[in-house]
Amino acid sequence: MPRMIRPVLAATLAATFSLAACAQTRDETCLTSLREAARAQGMARADAERLTRGWTPEWAVLDNLDNQPEFKTPIWDYLAALVDDQRIADGRAQLAAHKATLADIEQRFGVDAATVVAVWGVESNFGQVLGGRPIVASLAALACEGRRQSYFRGEWLALAKLMATGDLDTSGPEGATAIKGSWAGAFGQTQFMPSTYQRLAVDFDADGRRDLITSTPDALASTANFLVKGGWRMGQPWGYEVRLPAGFDAGDAGRRDKQPLATWAARGVTPVAGGKLTGDGPAALLLPAGREGPAFLVLRNFDVIYGYNAAESYALAIAHLADRLRGGGPFAAPWPTDDAGLSRAERREVQTLLAARGHAVGAPDGLIGPATRAAVRTEQQARGWPQDGRPGQKLLRTLRAEPAPAAASATAP
Ligand code: CA
Repeated sequence: MPRMIRPVLAATLAATFSLAACAQTRDETCLTSLREAARAQGMARADAERLTRGWTPEWAVLDNLDNQPEFKTPIWDYLAALVDDQRIADGRAQLAAHKATLADIEQRFGVDAATVVAVWGVESNFGQVLGGRPIVASLAALACEGRRQSYFRGEWLALAKLMATGDLDTSGPEGATAIKGSWAGAFGQTQFMPSTYQRLAVDFDADGRRDLITSTPDALASTANFLVKGGWRMGQPWGYEVRLPAGFDAGDAGRRDKQPLATWAARGVTPVAGGKLTGDGPAALLLPAGREGPAFLVLRNFDVIYGYNAAESYALAIAHLADRLRGGGPFAAPWPTDDAGLSRAERREVQTLLAARGHAVGAPDGLIGPATRAAVRTEQQARGWPQDGRPGQKLLRTLRAEPAPAAASATAP
C-alpha cells in the first residue's frame, strides 16, 4: 500500500506547489497591472511601487459581488436600529459638541447641522464604525477580477492617488493597508468611495490634508459639500409624513413619480402635522411598507440624500433621524406589523437572553448575524412559530417573560 501512497502524495505535493505558484502569479499579475495603471496616470514610480508593496489582493471579497443577502430586512427593523433612542441621544450630544464647526459648515455650504449629523450617524455611527478591511487589498481584487473591474480599477486608482498626495496617511508601519473600510471600498467617517473622496472631500480644519478618517471637521464639511453639490436646498424640507384620505388610489406612488403639491392637495393628501402641504414641489408619494403603513411626500432634498446611497430606506432613515435630532417625534402611523423591530439595545438584550438559554451567539453586539438567526429559529421552532430567524418585539417579550431553563443556563458560555 505504501507504493500506492507515494505517487498520490507526489501528485498532491505537485498540485500544492503549482497552486502556490498560481496564487503568486495571480497576485503578481494584478499588482503589476495596478502599478502600471498608476504609472500611466502620471504617478511617480517610487509611489506606485511603495503603494503596491507589503500586501496581496483580498480575493475573498469577490464572493460578495454576487451574493444576495439571504435575509431581506423589513423597513421597520432597518429603521428601528438606525434611528433608535441611543442614536438620537448620541446625535444630539454631537450637535452640541460640534456646534461651532457645524454653524461654520452651515454658513459656508448651506446644509443644516441636523442633516449633516444624521448622515454621519448613519454612515459611521458618528465616526465610531469605519470598517475593518484594508481597502487597498479588497479594491485590488475587485479591480483585477469579477464583473465590475473597470469601476473598481477607477476606485483603486483614486485611492492610490489619495495616498500618494498625502491626503491619506500611509507613512506608518502598515503602509497602504492602514486605510480600512468596507469590503467594497467605502471608508472613513463619511464612508465615501475613493473617487467621491477625491472629488468632494474638504480640508475644513485647514491642516493641509483632506482627512475623513481622523478629522471630524473635515468629515462633516465633506458631507455638507456632497449634499450641496447634489442639489441640496437650504431651508427646504426633505418631505414629511402625510395622511391619505379613505379610498385613495395609491397606484402612482413612487419616488420618481412627482406631481405638484397642489395636485396632491386636491387629492386629499394632508400633512400629519396639520396645516397645508409645503415645500419646493413637485413631490412624490412614498409608501415604504405599502398602503397600510406610514405615507410620505418627498421633495427634492430627499433625492439629494438618496444620492448618497441609492436606497429609499436609507434616505428615509437619514431624513427621519435629522427630524428627530431637531426634536421631532416618531412617525404617526404604525408600521403594518404586529411584531415591531428592535433598537440596538433591545437586540443586545435578545442576544443576552439567547445566550442565557445556552445558544452560542457570542458577545451581545446588537448585530444580527447567522448565529443569532439560528438561535432565533430554534426558539421559534420550540414555540411553533414561523421560523424566519428574525428577532422582533414578540420574541423579546416572550424571552423576558420566560425564565431560562436551568440546564441550558448551566451550559451557557
Ligand atoms: Ca484637514
